[in-house]
Amino acid sequence: MKKQILRVGLDVPLTRLFDYANNGFKAQVGERVVVSFAGRNLVGVIVEITDTTDVPENKLKVVQHVFDGVVFDANMFKLLNFCASYYHYPLGQATIAALPLRLRQIKPAKTRKSYAYALSRPIDIESLPKRQAVLQRIVLALQDGASVKPSLSEAQLAEISSGWRKAIATLKEMDCLQQTEVVAMKAGLQTENVEPTLNAEQQQVIQSVLSEANLFKPWLLYGITGSGKTEVYIQLLKVVLAERDAQALILVPEINLTPQLESRFRSRLSEYPLATLHSSLSESERLQSWQLASTGEAKIVIGTRLSVFSAMPKLKMILIDEEHDSSYKQQDGMRYHARDIAIMRAKQLDIPIVMGSATPSLETWHLAKKQQYGLLRLKERAVESAQLPKINCIDIGKSPTEKGLSPILIHEMRERIKRGEQSLLFLNRRGYAPVLHCSACQWVAPCVRCSARLVVHLGQKQLKCHHCGHEQRIPVQCPDCGNPDLSPVGQATQRLEQTLVDLFPTANIARVDRDSIRNKDALTGLLKKVHDRDVDILVGTQMLAKGHDFPHLTLVGVIDTDTALFSPDFRASERLFSQLMQVSGRAGRAEKPGEVLIQTTFPQHALFDALRAQDYEVYADALLDERNAMQFPPTSYFALLKAEASTYNQVLAFLNESVALAQQISSDVMVYDPLRPQMERLNNMERGQLLLQASSRAVFHQFLRQWMPQLRAQKLANKIRWVLDIDPIEF
Ligand code: ADP
Ligand code: ZN
Ligand code: ZN
Repeated sequence: MKKQILRVGLDVPLTRLFDYANNGFKAQVGERVVVSFAGRNLVGVIVEITDTTDVPENKLKVVQHVFDGVVFDANMFKLLNFCASYYHYPLGQATIAALPLRLRQIKPAKTRKSYAYALSRPIDIESLPKRQAVLQRIVLALQDGASVKPSLSEAQLAEISSGWRKAIATLKEMDCLQQTEVVAMKAGLQTENVEPTLNAEQQQVIQSVLSEANLFKPWLLYGITGSGKTEVYIQLLKVVLAERDAQALILVPEINLTPQLESRFRSRLSEYPLATLHSSLSESERLQSWQLASTGEAKIVIGTRLSVFSAMPKLKMILIDEEHDSSYKQQDGMRYHARDIAIMRAKQLDIPIVMGSATPSLETWHLAKKQQYGLLRLKERAVESAQLPKINCIDIGKSPTEKGLSPILIHEMRERIKRGEQSLLFLNRRGYAPVLHCSACQWVAPCVRCSARLVVHLGQKQLKCHHCGHEQRIPVQCPDCGNPDLSPVGQATQRLEQTLVDLFPTANIARVDRDSIRNKDALTGLLKKVHDRDVDILVGTQMLAKGHDFPHLTLVGVIDTDTALFSPDFRASERLFSQLMQVSGRAGRAEKPGEVLIQTTFPQHALFDALRAQDYEVYADALLDERNAMQFPPTSYFALLKAEASTYNQVLAFLNESVALAQQISSDVMVYDPLRPQMERLNNMERGQLLLQASSRAVFHQFLRQWMPQLRAQKLANKIRWVLDIDPIEF
């Protein structure tokens, strides 16, 4: 009899799969295996089962173990194959990277299931052993006189006593315990459970999507902030999930930043088990969510970009909230864009996908205008009395700021405090000040590892690099000239907070950035304070811009965005516009009208004109014309070959050789000269990059299929770090 050959994907940087003989395990495609590879034991996934191999008999190794249970079905392999070919990335690595960490490890993946316990019958306390106080307390918590109470979760039992496990074991032995598995995880912030009546626009949108719900159709849901997009998602899910066994996937940028969103889905769709997948879960929670999704038990999966790879056998609809958000792009390993993969997934499964945004990415807008995507509009705020805020610029050339704040803005904040309303100041820079400066010799504190300046964190008396994480004490004198008078220059959130405390000593001021808010609970707590009106002024970074609903917030001040106006990155104005629209959208969400004041030296800039008019469409069309004229994406396609090494000479040699190889391939791909990125050195590595451009994806990929193997075969390819970034968003 012929041996069974398992063709396995492994997490190794080689584009091929690896054959192993199967010696008696029952094996299926999609199951995980343990194999030995180059002297190590690795976890792999069976991609194919055959009976032939090119590996000579005496070299063919035997698979060591096959784990029961398929992690990827045929549909998922189709998706992973697409990724491998689109991103020119090894299929094995793509496959393994799509798994939660626990499934990449060489041990059986046991989820510690969580249970809730109730008594199956009341117990006579007197009959219990006298000295077991914990047991008595637990029984008292589980029954009320002669009747049993609803079940308690492990966490609730643990609050009663740390010795609860022993007590539960005793009750089990007495055969009077009912145990149920806890599937849905903890609920978030409690929000209102009322079901609003959809307005005409919303109904129209839902009808459009549902009229083509059983086939592949990408939709752009373009709706201004507060227009009720989330409500549309919820109602769509209600209809789709009512179908037996259907599952839906909701992608969100960073669920940590929007605890309200998660709890809204939980409370409004409480009849459907919901699993979340994001970075602040523990590995075992993540595994549990993954398994709930892949068995079909979880009907709704909400997650960040990686969850686009969660196996969902009954997937019937995909929703992408804030589709323009750059966090959908993975910035290391396989540099995929979750939105693009989600669209491919929907296409392969022949299901609809709805992408929502108040400021769609130009890529998506472009396709919607070309009618490759359906375009759905929500033009009005959903709460009838809520109006879009008035947006104005404060010309700080004419009305200079003191400590970063112009007199007009200070006046308006004071008015808000008098009226018991809230203000939000947006400054997208954390720390105390962006620069430490010597007034005698003009020295500024540099990072020793990067071509970047160190940010002053005064509270901890530290200088920190926000790019590589380097930290050092604030020096007592200038290392160049010995001048002891070093001063922090410029504004960042901590300094602004301090200024506000000095200006408004009786006001409650809260700062929201990655230094002050370290986890979801901290943010949830703060949001609650804002809702309870225990905060008068919020200061923060873009953490504050997303999705939050602050009914009493009527003023948004934008402190300093001028550097972004003239950034060399061709996407900078698109990003700034969308960020400012987002943060402006926080004002005036209820009855009270909102106002946005932007401090700038360039009030005449076209971006501010568009913002004042609150006209995304006009601005997006203008930006598209510009991109078109320059032949930039989305009119053409980019790929970026990035390389780094300890010396730039090596980088340049690799890139030059890559150019030479490219020139031998006849194609319409344009290859630019090697360049240094803005951040020339990062974490002690010298960096360089090569931009490639093509007018169609087909042309591009035909070229890349020839070029990539040649790059991998270069002598330097194993000596330096390099990566090909398809559709890059950072340069
Ligand atoms: P978006 O996601 O577009 O920002 P939301 O769905 O969060 O908008 O809606 C904004 C606010 O309007 C929320 O407080 C929501 O409860 C409310 N809302 C949404 N749709 C309606 C409606 N049809 N009637 C009344 N209120 C609504
Ligand atoms: Zn000096
Ligand atoms: Zn650094």
